Amino acid sequence: MVENSRRAVLGGLGAGLAMTLGPARASAADRKVGYAIVGLGYYATQQIMPAFASCDRSRLVALVSGTPAKLDTFGDKYDIPASHRYSYGDFDRIRNNPDIDIVYVVLPNSLHAEYSIRAAQAGKHVMCEKPMAVSVAEGERMIAAFRQAGKKLMIGYRSRFEQYNRLAIDLARSGHVGPTRIITADHGFPITAGQWRLDRSLSGGGSLMDIGIYSLNAARYLTGEEPVEVSAIESTDRNDPRFRTVEDRINFLLRFPSGIEAVCVSSYSSSHNSYRVTGTGGWIEMSPATPYAGQAMSIHRNGETTPRTLPPGKSQFAGQLDHLAECVINDTTPIVPGEEGLADLRVIEAIYRSAAERRHIALQAM
Ligand code: NDP
Repeated sequence: MVENSRRAVLGGLGAGLAMTLGPARASAADRKVGYAIVGLGYYATQQIMPAFASCDRSRLVALVSGTPAKLDTFGDKYDIPASHRYSYGDFDRIRNNPDIDIVYVVLPNSLHAEYSIRAAQAGKHVMCEKPMAVSVAEGERMIAAFRQAGKKLMIGYRSRFEQYNRLAIDLARSGHVGPTRIITADHGFPITAGQWRLDRSLSGGGSLMDIGIYSLNAARYLTGEEPVEVSAIESTDRNDPRFRTVEDRINFLLRFPSGIEAVCVSSYSSSHNSYRVTGTGGWIEMSPATPYAGQAMSIHRNGETTPRTLPPGKSQFAGQLDHLAECVINDTTPIVPGEEGLADLRVIEAIYRSAAERRHIALQAM
């Protein structure tokens, strides 16, 4: 009714006055979607929260933390009113806050499912960090809960919003170096003791859940296919106090339906960050491939290797935040929905099984 009468008034006005009213209409169309961040740890505070400054469609409107001092510090820094600062005990009150459209879950892995589902039940869309959950069963429960709530679930696969990775996908899938035959993807870092990542009850697993998932996800996005067979070996020094409950190294081989094979490294005791897509006519290399910044690409074709550089673009963090915001505004599905997280978990469980049972594991086509 209000909207109709506003249109009628606008229709009857002279062009000058209509132009005066223009910016108000434009600002409604350019609305920024409100995010609440849950878990004020390293990734949230150092990478995600600063990225809102370069977002076109997203704004930070609320914080959820178990540490009151962080709510004070970051609440003040980002101008978040006291009414929009929550503890975990308070979390479900986000239901009553219309400024919050999306909840971004940046908690230890074993808390992803619980807080994502509670957010959906509070009527909010969710961005959830990788890995989506600690098991396929949990991932399936999340997807069902979002379907029931009619809300969107996206997984924080930031590399899909990073321009070199996007180019690598286009080049690999379009056969720029001939049809892909082999992908090698290596991810790892030497982990320091004393963090939740080394406690299985919070992480759900070791290097694979945390960093090897980048090798797996890259193999899937560079091929656009789902693996049909998995083979893995694990090497963990159980006398190393860091690896009492989680694995160190778990390297794996994936076979894809087209015949492509991916040879992947996942390590908590050595540094790796690269992938190479080798086709029948050359290769595309990314080294480093998936850091927060500084990706580097080179392409080998016709016997020559040349670096490929792109002009600076929107950061992967801002791109990721704005993508879900646009999906909410336009009611579209994110390019990395819950199903994408579930596809990784399905392969992760097969990798663990293959290593434990020392045999190849066949995966059913999805
Ligand atoms: P941190 O340890 O730095 O932060 C986790 C935060 O979660 C804590 O600071 C704390 O915040 C909160 N928390 C709640 N319960 C617990 C608990 N029992 N133990 C520990 N922390 C708890 O981890 P990260 O920020 O590095 O990782 C968080 C998530 O983000 C993980 O799922 C990880 O996989 C993902 N991640 C993704 C990255 C990417 O590039 N996509 C990079 C790094 C991490 P508070 O004090 O506010 O309650």
